[in-house]
Amino acid sequence: MATKIQAKLHRCKSTKTTRPTRTSLKHSCENPRGLTDTHAEGGAFGAGPPGSRLGQGSEGRGTPKMAASMCDVFSFCVGVAGPARIPVEVRFVSSAKGKGLFATQLIRKGETVFVERPLVAAQFLWNALYRYRACDHCLRALEKAEENAQRLTGKPGQVLPHPELCTVRQDLHQSCPHCRVTYCSAECRLAAAEQYHQILCPGPSQDDPAHPLNKLQEAWRSVHYPPETASIMLMARMVATVKQAKDKDRWIRLFSQFCNKTANEEEEIVHKLLGDKFKGQLELLRRLFTEALYEEALSQWFTPDGFRSLFALVGTNGQGIGTSSLSQWVHACDALELKPQDREQLDTFIDQLYKDIEAATGEFLNCEGSGLFVLQSCCNHSCVPNAETSFPENNFLLHVTALEDIKPGEEICISYLDCCQRERSRHSRHKILRENYLFVCSCPKCLAEADEPNMTSEEEEEEEEEEEGEPEDAELGDEMTDV
Ligand SMILES: [Zn+2]
Ligand SMILES: [Zn+2]
Ligand SMILES: [Zn+2]
Repeated sequence: MATKIQAKLHRCKSTKTTRPTRTSLKHSCENPRGLTDTHAEGGAFGAGPPGSRLGQGSEGRGTPKMAASMCDVFSFCVGVAGPARIPVEVRFVSSAKGKGLFATQLIRKGETVFVERPLVAAQFLWNALYRYRACDHCLRALEKAEENAQRLTGKPGQVLPHPELCTVRQDLHQSCPHCRVTYCSAECRLAAAEQYHQILCPGPSQDDPAHPLNKLQEAWRSVHYPPETASIMLMARMVATVKQAKDKDRWIRLFSQFCNKTANEEEEIVHKLLGDKFKGQLELLRRLFTEALYEEALSQWFTPDGFRSLFALVGTNGQGIGTSSLSQWVHACDALELKPQDREQLDTFIDQLYKDIEAATGEFLNCEGSGLFVLQSCCNHSCVPNAETSFPENNFLLHVTALEDIKPGEEICISYLDCCQRERSRHSRHKILRENYLFVCSCPKCLAEADEPNMTSEEEEEEEEEEEGEPEDAELGDEMTDV
């Protein structure tokens, strides 16, 4: 199965546990088409002028964009007493560039800038269907490292040395008593129930194809194929969160923190997410979404324009999350202090394991999903970033770490490209950024390379031809029969 998916994910050591997909559509760069009215317009989710398509909260209406409580953008940071303890501030840069994140004190190379949990997160639907078992709330891998290795190598007898290094605690796993969905812990079960699961729990209808939520998921899977970059369930959890919340305005305000886009930009994003073949399916998804989740307080999210905006928000702000118990075990093995001979033996074993996985399953794959991180979404892109995001706790907790010393007042930038993409030519980088995030990068590296001819390396050209030359139907056919 899944060879198609895996062929598209190239293995890249530092992205074994994280595969960034979409991050925020924030401009570290000039806006390519001079769409300076983006923010002035109020946009989809900004606390824009009355009548902005989704700015439902009464407090949000008519107030300036940055006036929305700044405390809110720090309220999902973990392990700090308050915003004063986080060495960053959010500044409005310009209407063309939007917001940016700036250091308020010296941050040393290697230091964690902040740790944040998402407003909502969800596993990708094909990933779940392919038996990547993850906590339904925090996406922590539920398979033990050895079970994971057995499944990915196709060898039921595969044994891993140092089993004690696997941190999966199956004794702590819990299920929803009504729908049997699984969580890594009681904390996650309760957190999900308190935030959104009461609305989304299908109860005993979990496997009933006629259940409105199952119809919605089935429709999503039939229009959004691997490699997955978004999930309709992220949108479902946004709605369910507001539906369940006592303080609905707070949540609407939080969701309104994500960047605004013009109607044209939203069209481009929908097009990119669904592809040529399925862009007309947005209306079907909206109908099923409404049938499953309609909420009066959010009626604007269910209109054709509002639904497209919601879709675009998830498409551009959803941060890819990857977790893997096997990868966590490998990292723990790497950290072991061993005699040279034992080290060599263990390294050889792990190399062979990866070869076996590659032979049996294609590339190594993680549990994958995406989440909306409100503070991290303020972070702009640079091809020479001074910070990076990762998921070292093997769940949805996002760490932003300094890659170099960052002086007070300096902007903190991450890369929306993975480390392999960053090594590509300026031409190739710009192509990826333009297609996925709709901006032209003008970071120091891009400016320095501006005079170079638009050349791609041979490998890149081949890759591009492969991507572009492949008939879509053949690809879809494969995916369909693989399931
Ligand atoms: Zn969990
Ligand atoms: Zn349930
Ligand atoms: Zn750049």
